[in-house]
Amino acid sequence: MGVKGKLGWQLKTDKVSKVLFQASYRELMNLLMSTSVSVDEINTKMKDIGFRVGETLLMDYADRIREHAADFHQFSRTLQLAYKVNSGQEFTSVEVSNDKRTIKFTDEKCPICQGVVITDMPGLQYCVLISGVFDAVMKLRGFSADSYQESCRALGDDACTWTLRLLT
Ligand SMILES: [Zn+2]
Repeated sequence: MGVKGKLGWQLKTDKVSKVLFQASYRELMNLLMSTSVSVDEINTKMKDIGFRVGETLLMDYADRIREHAADFHQFSRTLQLAYKVNSGQEFTSVEVSNDKRTIKFTDEKCPICQGVVITDMPGLQYCVLISGVFDAVMKLRGFSADSYQESCRALGDDACTWTLRLLT
């Protein structure tokens, strides 16, 4: 996709307030915390929510993407673009493994975790919603892959990282 295509796509995307998004996300997380019995349950529920969000996003934008990723490793570019369109910023880095079966996305300024500090819930994946979105995109595009969150700024890590792994 050329620069023109990227700009055209961005301009067509409606924007909402970042504060509104972050506050809504925080309250959703608070609700999950107060209605779950374990950190694992919170992570699973938020990832499931991300999957549904991903389904909606992919259907909304499927017609606008002129170049679909044909090979797994090409999602490094496709998802970078989708992240930029939806968050207004790019991943700090996107690394494809030598065998092209793993893609690691890193954001040192994750907008979901901005201003969030959680010290009493080890293992919580605050922005695991992103992993759920990745899972949905993989499934709907016919790839057998899974994603998991490796680190999270809200929990004190230097950056948020989500890893996508091709399974078959
Ligand atoms: Zn994050």
